[in-house]
Amino acid sequence: MDQITSLLNTINSECRSLFGQGQVANYIPELAKIKPQQFAMAVLTVDGEIYTTGDAKTRFSIQSISKVLTLSLALQRYGESLWQRVGKEPSGTAFNSLIQLEMENGVPRNPFINAGALAVCDALQSRVSAPLHHYLETVRQLSGNSKINFNKSVSKSEFKHRFRNAAMANLMKSFNNFDNDVDAVLSNYCKYCAIEMNVVELAKTFSFLANKGVSQTTKETFISRKQNSQMNSLMFTSGLYDAAGDFAYRIGMPGKSGVGGAILAVVPERYTVVVWSPELNQYGNSVAGLHALELFAKEMEIQLF
Ligand code: GLU
Repeated sequence: MDQITSLLNTINSECRSLFGQGQVANYIPELAKIKPQQFAMAVLTVDGEIYTTGDAKTRFSIQSISKVLTLSLALQRYGESLWQRVGKEPSGTAFNSLIQLEMENGVPRNPFINAGALAVCDALQSRVSAPLHHYLETVRQLSGNSKINFNKSVSKSEFKHRFRNAAMANLMKSFNNFDNDVDAVLSNYCKYCAIEMNVVELAKTFSFLANKGVSQTTKETFISRKQNSQMNSLMFTSGLYDAAGDFAYRIGMPGKSGVGGAILAVVPERYTVVVWSPELNQYGNSVAGLHALELFAKEMEIQLF
């Protein structure tokens, strides 16, 4: 057996011993129904090799990992001017916090917390005539699977319980940093988050991050090389909510997590890594997922700095 497969199998059995140490997200009722004790991991090399372990065929809700895609789509259209709407600084507060918005004139700290992602989705909605359709087409092309879709029950459940996100959007509107109808943007945002993919499909979708902005699926440039490098920097500083510093210290890779239990991590010019396990810690990051990435970084001797 090759080195990566054997390492992934070891990681799989070690991470399963952590089951029971976290809790599935329950503030979106439909997400609370997921079977907690599952684990999967995929490693896609820039040469196109794919290695997997665990429940690698099971699809899950990508949730906040969608924020990387919506930011990429908005950067394609706005370039640097997008940063007038949203900052680039780590927040140090929870992913759904409202506090900084009030203090900082309705400009969210970064595009990977909810307020920032909502501002980005609003910007996208202003420049794309059918944003949901465009987003779905993009996911299908990048993943190489035309059947990828969002889970209607999950998006409906999140929309029904949209109170905090609606509060953020309305607060931004009061500061003239939100142009479209709040519910129209939120409805799309909930669908972007409710996209379901397995670890392999997710790794393929985000393969451009490890590959200088060029998708390994379509072989086309998705974002420019410079934007890609900036995206990795933003993920490194802000991709794991208020635990981004700990992730950078322990794992040392750009990453983005979602409350569905997935974490996307990038080793530039080498690997796109996706791990999924639904039980979360108090910051909303997958307990087993963090451990898996830590083991992977250690055993593969990944030292970006
Ligand atoms: N859809 C979730 C929300 O807006 C995403 C949160 C996350 O994955 O961090 O609350």
